[in-house]
Amino acid sequence: MINVSKTYLPPQDRYLAIMNRAWQKGWITNNGELVQELEASLCQTLQVPYLLYSSNGTVVLQMALKSLGSGGGDIITTPYSYVATAHSIQWEGFRPVFADIDPVTFCIDPAMVEAAITPRTRAILATHVYGMPCNTDALAAIGQQYGLPVIYDGAHAFGTRWQGQSLLAYGDMSTCSFHATKIFHTVEGGCIICRQPGQHALLEGYRQFGHKGDDHYSIGVNGKNSELHAAMGLAILPDMPALIAERRHLFAWYKQALDGLPLQLLQPAATAGLEWNYAYFPALFPTEQAMLQVKAALEAIDIFPRRYFFPALHSLPFYGSTSSCPVAASVAARMLCLPFYNGLEPAVVERIAAIIRDCL
Ligand SMILES: *Cc1c(COP(=O)(O)O)cnc(C)c1O
Repeated sequence: MINVSKTYLPPQDRYLAIMNRAWQKGWITNNGELVQELEASLCQTLQVPYLLYSSNGTVVLQMALKSLGSGGGDIITTPYSYVATAHSIQWEGFRPVFADIDPVTFCIDPAMVEAAITPRTRAILATHVYGMPCNTDALAAIGQQYGLPVIYDGAHAFGTRWQGQSLLAYGDMSTCSFHATKIFHTVEGGCIICRQPGQHALLEGYRQFGHKGDDHYSIGVNGKNSELHAAMGLAILPDMPALIAERRHLFAWYKQALDGLPLQLLQPAATAGLEWNYAYFPALFPTEQAMLQVKAALEAIDIFPRRYFFPALHSLPFYGSTSSCPVAASVAARMLCLPFYNGLEPAVVERIAAIIRDCL
């Protein structure tokens, strides 16, 4: 069976050697030495001043939204993301207002964001889809002009560099997921990155029930992660440059194998200032019918691509959305993420390409 992704596991002895430090100390969670070491390594790798390691990529979205304060209101967000993005908004008592996406980058369209702003708007929450950057300049300008925080769901963005810095360094706050299906993972995990020391202190409080020792200063949640998870991150982090380099080669293989077919693929080389992380291999088909036909043909031989993202979030019943997002609806209907992971064999890529060629 071949799935859309396959978790990279580091050499087991390397993981065990790191984890053994927690064993020796008898300290396995609550901001231990390995969590602190992972945070320091991530700050160094990503070149960001404030980063908190957390239990997953959803609770950090919730913490970012919580930091906006109470009173409800609207968060302008993308209909083309994983459900966690919009669910977090609704979960925190805000209303998601969906602004349509750009048909080439699949990220939120800044002109649509600006058109959706009202006095009820509290913030903008945008996703760097497939690890490709949003139009960060335009969103920053809109945020500044209207006094709105810009938050990025950077769940896919680890390893992408954009205009000379990590993509996760953009925005007032940025989150990432380190789930086992993501490009860099700690089994389960995530982080939040912010710019201000006060913000960092607030988020650190949220992460552990809003108190430090006997001093209680806010309402918090449990967003901590363990030493065992941090050990996985520390074991994988040194391999990331080589893993991304391998994915770059695989991406080129795929592109070549699919050459000449009527598929819209990502064009990382066409964007100046971008060093992409090669996180996914999405293929946009001419019609939903063609995509479904390919999906069925692949599944028949035990190859499981994934509709990602589907459906477009504005069409889910939970938000009561009246937004019209025809681009996102059309893209979500026709997109298929093909199997793409470290260790994927070129022969499998050729087989997948041959089936797609037959169907189309
Ligand atoms: C994976 C993902 C999340 C959620 O991350 P978890 O670590 O699984 O909670 C949020 N947003 C996007 C865009 C994702 O892909």
